[in-house]
Amino acid sequence: MSTPEPLDGSTPTSTSPPDRSGFDAGAQSAKSSALRKRRAQIKEELSQLQRDFVDTFDRAKDSDNPALSGLRVDWFLRALPGVGPTKTTKILERLGINPRATIGGLRINQRTAFRRELVELTKNLQPRRTIGRLVVIAGPTAVGKNTVISEILKARPEIEMSVSATTRPPRPGEVDGVDYYFVPDEQFDALVESGELMEWAVVHGTHRYGTPRGPVLRQQRAGKTVLLEIDIQGARQLRDGGEEALFIFIAPPSFDALAERLESRGTEDSDERQRRLATAVEELGARGEFDHVVVNDVVQDAAQDIVDLLEATTPRGD
Ligand code: 5GP
Repeated sequence: MSTPEPLDGSTPTSTSPPDRSGFDAGAQSAKSSALRKRRAQIKEELSQLQRDFVDTFDRAKDSDNPALSGLRVDWFLRALPGVGPTKTTKILERLGINPRATIGGLRINQRTAFRRELVELTKNLQPRRTIGRLVVIAGPTAVGKNTVISEILKARPEIEMSVSATTRPPRPGEVDGVDYYFVPDEQFDALVESGELMEWAVVHGTHRYGTPRGPVLRQQRAGKTVLLEIDIQGARQLRDGGEEALFIFIAPPSFDALAERLESRGTEDSDERQRRLATAVEELGARGEFDHVVVNDVVQDAAQDIVDLLEATTPRGD
């Protein structure tokens, strides 16, 4: 239960006794509730055959993300069409696996046996491809992501852009709900705690940005391709969280070209440019984590490369 807001505007006091260890019980319980929500969603996607069982298992077994590695094996099996509690118990007994074990907690031989079983159980399942795909585009500062994306949207106007939430104030001409959802810090905190953000990050060391899950899911369920333009940290979170998406990295033709672009657009002072370039060095090192790297030398060519990629990688049945 949350502490009621005092009407005199003072800071709310917690009803629980102070904990000298620094352990924040409220934050912990919000975290576990977000985790439970995420796991329930993964199970729902599995049972709707919107994600692949073996692929999800492969990601979960080595993942650092507790939403994935903490998935219970009995839960996982029961998401399979036609596998109920009795069959689940029998399979786990035969494999010598405790039903309460998590995927991340399986021993090597158990993993091998469980995976073999999964391959067998899922070999005749037909994935339902009614759900639209997620495309994540990231790249270092000043690489020209926005211009490339505008060109992609001209060629493929049916693609939906996700609208992020941010704590940064709007710039002149920016519209709330169109460019971003501009939210105060407390609202952003609430979005994080409720698990409503698929990913979020502090970008350029100042403001927070995050992708609201609800609108993305609704558009995907309507069969739409949804495009996310986010920073590298956010893309990494989605990948580590086992999100099924096409991850595209936009790279500059060279580091010098990036520095020149940053300087010529003239929107940052010299200190800020140095800071962004230092981040860019790190970000460029992340290119290997993406499914595809597209070099933005000529904007139209980069956009066309991405449109081609979308077509070439469209799952059959879409
Ligand atoms: P700007 O403030 O210039 O609009 O955006 C700054 C950076 O924030 C961009 O490089 C963009 O990639 C990143 N960004 C925008 N939305 C999101 C989001 O939802 N999540 C993350 N992680 N980064 C975002």
